[in-house]
Amino acid sequence: MAERPLTLMAVHAHPDDEATSTGGVLARYAAEGVTTVLVTCTDGRCGDGPGGVKPGDPGHDPAAVVAMRQAELEASCAALKVTHLETLGYGDSGMMGWPTNDQPGSFWSTPVAEAADRLAELIRRYRPDVVVTYDENGFYGHPDHIQAHRITMAAVAQTDGAAKVYWTTVPRTAFEDFGRIMKELGIEWADPDPSSPEPALGLPDDEISTWVDTKAYGDQKFDALAAHASQTENIFFLQLGRERFTELMGVETFVRVRDTTDAPLPEDDLFAGLR
Ligand SMILES: [Zn+2]
Repeated sequence: MAERPLTLMAVHAHPDDEATSTGGVLARYAAEGVTTVLVTCTDGRCGDGPGGVKPGDPGHDPAAVVAMRQAELEASCAALKVTHLETLGYGDSGMMGWPTNDQPGSFWSTPVAEAADRLAELIRRYRPDVVVTYDENGFYGHPDHIQAHRITMAAVAQTDGAAKVYWTTVPRTAFEDFGRIMKELGIEWADPDPSSPEPALGLPDDEISTWVDTKAYGDQKFDALAAHASQTENIFFLQLGRERFTELMGVETFVRVRDTTDAPLPEDDLFAGLR
């Protein structure tokens, strides 16, 4: 049956998202001989520019940001030994409510069917056994993450591709650990506000189906994130240092939403039932 190597496809919104939530699984499965395909949907033009210039501030040149982030993405893929990088090249839509949401060419303003067709073409080409993306809220409500979710689910449905599909998540207990350690280290950290109207991030631990230990690949994940050090939110994680980073971010967690293997849950391997 195993005539071709198993294949993992991760669909992400921006350059750098591959490192934070799936850097460990990309590195681990590549080391295990799995073909890894990263699809990055947008060009990250709404990120920080060279020298830390914020979007909307004078001197923020989207073309320069795009070039810088493409180079960072390639360095991150090298650190994670990603087999194939595919970029869809849509314009970064910025945070919800930003005028960039509706800019021509933005990912958010692109019809789901149109972008899903392009992703479906990649699914037909690479025939992934496992596809990973975000939940319906894009994990934290960013329009490009929501759109990545939508096109991935549409593309999987139209190709009938992938034996298993997962959404990334974070266990609620991890947020507590994280807050505690950040405070110990004196790093600025806001605890989640229970009165916030936004949906709470992550999931209760017993709703998480899949826990993948990637601690042995902590250095590669750290290097991948360090490749994106131009983005302030990443520096935040890098401040932890390698050891603490691996301790806190060394188990990647997912919810299994499609499965044709009947592998029992909870599982500790995205490829459980496939090898
Ligand atoms: Zn993102």
